[in-house]
Amino acid sequence: MSNVVATQIKSHQRFGGVVPEVASRHHIEQITSCIKDALTQAEVDYDDLSAVAVTYGPGLVGALLIGITAAKAVAWAHQLPLIPVNHLAGHIYAAQLVAPIEFPAMALVVSGGHTELVYMPVENKFEIIGETRDDAAGEAYDKIGRVLGINYPAGKPVDELAHRGQDTFNFPRAMDHDDNFDFSFSGLKSAFINTVHHADQIHEQLNKADLAASFQQAVIDVLSDKTVRALREFPVKQLILAGGVAANKGLRDRLTHDIQRFTNTKLELVPLSLCGDNAAMIGAAGEMLYRHDVRADARLNADPGLEFEWLKQPQQN
Ligand code: ATP
Ligand code: FE
Repeated sequence: MSNVVATQIKSHQRFGGVVPEVASRHHIEQITSCIKDALTQAEVDYDDLSAVAVTYGPGLVGALLIGITAAKAVAWAHQLPLIPVNHLAGHIYAAQLVAPIEFPAMALVVSGGHTELVYMPVENKFEIIGETRDDAAGEAYDKIGRVLGINYPAGKPVDELAHRGQDTFNFPRAMDHDDNFDFSFSGLKSAFINTVHHADQIHEQLNKADLAASFQQAVIDVLSDKTVRALREFPVKQLILAGGVAANKGLRDRLTHDIQRFTNTKLELVPLSLCGDNAAMIGAAGEMLYRHDVRADARLNADPGLEFEWLKQPQQN
């Protein structure tokens, strides 16, 4: 009914990334007015609420603790149940704000801190079948963006720049043909940075749009190839593309094409406005958990490294 987002990107830009202490301070300053605005915009009062959902991980511990403390206070003061939500389940459940998720489902979660394929055989079961072994896709975008002189977060501007260039550099596609569903982006990031530094040393001007296009093509190739292969091994009704990097136009176009051409799976692209971090997606996951009777009490604590389970491999005889 409302989705209030307080952004603090400007405070972090001069550092080239999120500074945890600065993030915590901004959370303290903003949380009360965010809650007030959300209620006002939705035209509801505390009495109209059924529960309070809150992210308890993964993420920065200081920021998580502020959200958890605020949620506990509201839940206690208004005698409402408290529902603990995994941030990544939130990214995936942004899809539920468009249409009910159909199970079994698969999610490709690509964000600032994560790149993983999550298999969901039934509602409220999240099993990782593959993940990045080093950098997340969004992190790689932000780091190569810095080399191109683009401010944090660089994902969107690099995406736009890529659409004006060609894939001329042929950067590595790590693990593309490996027999697993894992990813690796640090080699690509290094190849990119080395190419730019080498050109700088010999005073050669490289075409920035071509650099961006070549980087983006390498990221998209691996993400799409691995996802298509995962869908062959785990046939599902629906693939959900979620997380901040799910806003990438090149990735959305490529997956739309490949999923239709190579699989029988329906693709659900999380709407652009719900790809980046927001509270509505946590509400959507919270509503699902509420139906499954998941509740937390006043002992709820932040879990910065909270993870989904790994899919158990079938027993070998
Ligand atoms: P996590 O969800 O893993 O904890 P996070 O919450 O910091 O990490 P998100 O807010 O989900 O990350 O996503 C932010 C990331 O998405 C940034 O790295 C940003 O550069 C990237 N991003 C945003 N738009 C695009 C785009 N169009 N193309 C590529 N990357 C993008
Ligand atoms: Fe996120």
